[in-house]
Amino acid sequence: MLLLNSINPYAKNTYNCVGVCMTIKYLNIKVKDLEENKSISISDSIKHLIEIFHFLDLRRFDQIIISNDVNIEINKIKKSKLNKNSSIYAKVITTIIKDKIHILLILNKIFALTLIKNEKDEFMYKNALHVFHHELAHIHDYNKKIDIFEKQMISERYSGMQAITFPLAEICWSEYIANYVSSSSTKANSFPLVTAQTLASLLISMGKELKIKIMVFKSNKDRKDVFDDVKKDIEKILKTAAYLLGYLHGLNITLGELCDKAEYIIDKSSFKDTWAMMNDELSIMRGLYPYAWDNLSIYKKLANCTFFYYKRLGIILKENESKELYFVVM
Ligand SMILES: [Zn+2]
Repeated sequence: MLLLNSINPYAKNTYNCVGVCMTIKYLNIKVKDLEENKSISISDSIKHLIEIFHFLDLRRFDQIIISNDVNIEINKIKKSKLNKNSSIYAKVITTIIKDKIHILLILNKIFALTLIKNEKDEFMYKNALHVFHHELAHIHDYNKKIDIFEKQMISERYSGMQAITFPLAEICWSEYIANYVSSSSTKANSFPLVTAQTLASLLISMGKELKIKIMVFKSNKDRKDVFDDVKKDIEKILKTAAYLLGYLHGLNITLGELCDKAEYIIDKSSFKDTWAMMNDELSIMRGLYPYAWDNLSIYKKLANCTFFYYKRLGIILKENESKELYFVVM
């Protein structure tokens, strides 16, 4: 998943609402809310990009939807209640039809327009191409995981401590591997550098806030809202770290080489040990991927990184015999 922040050249343009549906081989591309010639250009560009990245595993990928708002489309398909007017560029989701998993890519309309090659703005096109590459890498990763644990992906529900640590470990892995696989289409001084700077500023801005929130939670354990806030902050930090590690490992560079300031900030923060653990564990998981993965316990040590970071911040996750989660705040 990537967010719509920096690439937004068409934000003020409006187009007539005409829907177009095109099929490329087994891939159906549905373009909503765009005039026909733009829709055809986007579909042609996507066809070209899919040919460039043909070496990725794109089985089960049979639909692209291009629309004004990615979350609205997800809500329709998944019957979820995600916020409207989202700033998400693109998202890969799965659906189950007649016991079979299908993979879909939903693209924001404004982002999809940047996939049309534009000689005048090579920079914008290259950025869009990298984002698209990242999403196709998610599809590649989904296919590998579906091959290994399809049944568990459909039925597994985590409980107790695992309900906090495992879903996050799964997200961290998928963003890590998507950036690792797609790192060849970015330069160290663009997306990777921005990701390093983002992690550094999150650690600075959230560091103090997290301490205060944890103190509030300590004095009133019924403040579930405060815990949810802490959980969100921790998830953001770990996810950004996973993105960054994907780039570093994919480009085979150290954080010091990319951004020594970010390295210094991590080193001085309470995230330092968790960062080192994630670095090691993601490398080990990648070394085993995909053929030596056999079940969801592959995420166990990465999930432990989350447990460890909570503990480092003063919250010990615990569960009772009936797998109900509780906390000890130090
Ligand atoms: Zn992603």
